Amino acid sequence: MEDLTWPRPATLVRIGLVALVALWILGPSMLRSALPIWLVFLVAVGLEVQFLVGALRAGPQQAPDRRPQQVDLDRYGFEPDEDELDEDDLDDDQDELEVAAEPHPFLPPVRRFVLGLGLIAALVLAIWLVDSRTGWDSLDGPTRGKAAARFSAEASRIAGKEVSIYCDESRDYVGAVQHADGVAVVGGDLALLTPEICHDLYRLAFDDETTGARTGRALAVLAHEAWHLRGERDEGTTECYALQSGVELGVRLGLSESTARQLMRQQLTENALRGAGSIEYRVSSECRNGSRLDLDPEGTAFP
Ligand SMILES: [Zn+2]
Repeated sequence: MEDLTWPRPATLVRIGLVALVALWILGPSMLRSALPIWLVFLVAVGLEVQFLVGALRAGPQQAPDRRPQQVDLDRYGFEPDEDELDEDDLDDDQDELEVAAEPHPFLPPVRRFVLGLGLIAALVLAIWLVDSRTGWDSLDGPTRGKAAARFSAEASRIAGKEVSIYCDESRDYVGAVQHADGVAVVGGDLALLTPEICHDLYRLAFDDETTGARTGRALAVLAHEAWHLRGERDEGTTECYALQSGVELGVRLGLSESTARQLMRQQLTENALRGAGSIEYRVSSECRNGSRLDLDPEGTAFP
């Protein structure tokens, strides 16, 4: 029997999720960098699934006990034998009533589950909308031009020649569909980055803001495309060089050396975990201190 005077656990989880997302959108950027919101959504979906499975396992809800109370039985002095007979009759009637009233006992949990997923989808949409209003697209033209010039100068240092970095606002070449944060022609002089990567780089270089692992990823992507422009074709080698160059790049854009190293090491670890889906982007086991891919064989720090 469900207690209707208290909210269900699922309701409490949903209220908590809405509050967390509101805080994430309105709160300090520290929270944004510290809390991976997509992980929060993943946990929320997991909880919804758990509530659904729990509700389906529990089966149809028990009807309230309408049998005579013991106190009444005592007062009106029913004979025990007669009483038991009455109870059996009542039970049979009740079973029939339950079946008639609830032809699909599993439907309400499913409906609640769909409702929960709908709420999560709405919150994801809200965050996506806020991001598009506050992201790279929200910067004015001259600011974006200035930022792209800075990214080009940094890429040119790594490439060893004059190269240009463009932020692909139209997403014609880069983005989720192409499965890439950036694209470059090997040995060429032009690379494209997604607006998200550009914005993370912009925040670091111009606003002194870091967004945790996203900043690390943005540095690695810019360095990666710069190494392609330099002429490196092999993806694993390119990424290994990029994570090493990313340290100096990060420092030049405003990070402390220890933070820059920590971010690049994190990228190296994530690269190994990501591996299975994109084997060609995976750095080889040779990407370590003192190997042939070590750009600074004398140094002890890696990357
Ligand atoms: Zn590549």
